[in-house]
Amino acid sequence: MPMLEGMANAANPGSQLAPQPAADGGGESPARASRVLLIEDEPGIVDFVSRGFEAAGFEVESATDGLEGERLALKGTFDAIVLDLMLPGRSGMEILQTVRRGAPNVPVIVLTARGEIEDRVEGLEAGAVDYLVKPFSMAELVARVRAQLRVVAQASSSTILAEGIEVDLLTRKVRRDGRTAALSTTEFELLVYLMRHHGRVVAREEILSSVWGYEHDPATNVVDVYVGYLRRKLGTAGDPAPIHTVRAVGYRLGGPA
Ligand code: CA
Repeated sequence: MPMLEGMANAANPGSQLAPQPAADGGGESPARASRVLLIEDEPGIVDFVSRGFEAAGFEVESATDGLEGERLALKGTFDAIVLDLMLPGRSGMEILQTVRRGAPNVPVIVLTARGEIEDRVEGLEAGAVDYLVKPFSMAELVARVRAQLRVVAQASSSTILAEGIEVDLLTRKVRRDGRTAALSTTEFELLVYLMRHHGRVVAREEILSSVWGYEHDPATNVVDVYVGYLRRKLGTAGDPAPIHTVRAVGYRLGGPA
């Protein structure tokens, strides 16, 4: 429903991306800039991305070699890691696996030169929380990193909020505009996944891999079926659930980021 895009953003000012990182945490820690580790070997991208993050109020450290990047990542002093997959010394996928063991709470956003779904799924399966296909816009990268930092901040309070939907990860209670929705386990996992990526399109394959795991036949329509269940449980006749179908790709919760 592309006609909803402008309205969806206007109706959800909380989903807009504020230019300053202090707006992220609801004032929890405005004093400290978020620290990003960039592991990327192309000098042009390192320069472009570093400047972009600094202009957005982040502190950035970069490594142009996989081994150095891995060493820095395991120091545990970064709030987020932006990781290229094709690197000298050590591949991004290997680094991802090491980081998931050594620093499991740090969100890793993967930069990939290829857009094939298999690569994205491989990265997500290995523990990346998000990915961006080159060439990408700096505004989008900053937005994705901020979104993941919000997820981390929200995880400590066990509540996720997006598009008027509130999910408590501990009690597994779901509310939309004050109304409670009773969800099955799978519906709950699907909703949490969509909420963690709200504002952007998530491909069916990506949802399938992240929520259902690998054993599923990729031709299955199980994602569409469960999105239907969620829409019914979260929406009303006058106020449909904010889960938009993106033709031939997948779904998007809320307006575009
Ligand atoms: Ca590279």
